[in-house]
Amino acid sequence: MTLFEKIAAREIPAKIVYETDDVIAFRDISPQAPTHVLVCPKLALPKLSDASAEHTELLGKCLLAVAEVARREGLVDYRVAINNGAGAGQSVFHLHMHVLGGRTLSWPPG
Ligand code: AMP
Repeated sequence: MTLFEKIAAREIPAKIVYETDDVIAFRDISPQAPTHVLVCPKLALPKLSDASAEHTELLGKCLLAVAEVARREGLVDYRVAINNGAGAGQSVFHLHMHVLGGRTLSWPPG
């Protein structure tokens, strides 16, 4: 089981802020902004690059969950980031979207 599957199964504690049958969202343990939430499909796809057409609906649900989490957190401007692969900063190999907000976010990221 991946770390995020264990969070979804309540085997590891996390501050869960939103959940549906397919998606779970919880606060990042090491927040990089006043609001930093991770939105994950419950299905353990390791990376975005592992997704295919069969995941179209699931990926759509993840993006809608991102928007819902941002609304609930009161964010108007926010960033959604996916790190795909170790070279891009991915450390947990269960697809997730970072939702960052509550401060000015510079572009491009470092
Ligand atoms: P990434 O580096 O894109 O794979 O992002 C993984 C994120 O998971 C990092 O921002 C970590 O701080 C976060 N993280 C790791 N362990 C936990 C945990 N137990 N609960 C919540 N977030 C976590």
